[in-house]
Amino acid sequence: MFARHFIDSLDFAFKGSEILGEVPLTEMPRLQDKLAVPEGKISYMVRGLHDKNGMPMLEVALTGLCQLRCQRCLEKLDYPIQLSSRLLLVQESELDEFSSEEDEQDSIPADKHLDVLALIEDEILLSLPFAAVHPSGTCQLVANGSDRSEKSPFAVLAGLKNK
Ligand SMILES: [Zn+2]
Repeated sequence: MFARHFIDSLDFAFKGSEILGEVPLTEMPRLQDKLAVPEGKISYMVRGLHDKNGMPMLEVALTGLCQLRCQRCLEKLDYPIQLSSRLLLVQESELDEFSSEEDEQDSIPADKHLDVLALIEDEILLSLPFAAVHPSGTCQLVANGSDRSEKSPFAVLAGLKNK
């Protein structure tokens, strides 16, 4: 059973805390919708730190493999997850101020009870391609020479059947 972590995000950043672990993909219901196969797991590292201006941040690093569905042939598609992002922790009262600045930094609201699993799931969802397809040459439809149009009517039909 996966132990769900909740952290006080600002405190976590100030102390430079770090947690490491693995989470099965089955623990991420929103991600499940995107997957062809529910199996797999993600290794994660969440670390608290400060940027050069002393602003509290969380660094999230994830590695793993999930299986998406190719939007062309609808077969499984191995999709490696390897991402690392730094998220500025912003107090509720500062949100407006920050969004008006031309700061490229991703930010999340500071939370005393931050759900680490939800954060990980968000990061993965954000990183997934809108429509995953096999690289040309390995896709079934392309190999069969039936990929005449951008979106094969067969793939569309099969997609409807799966709904
Ligand atoms: Zn394909």
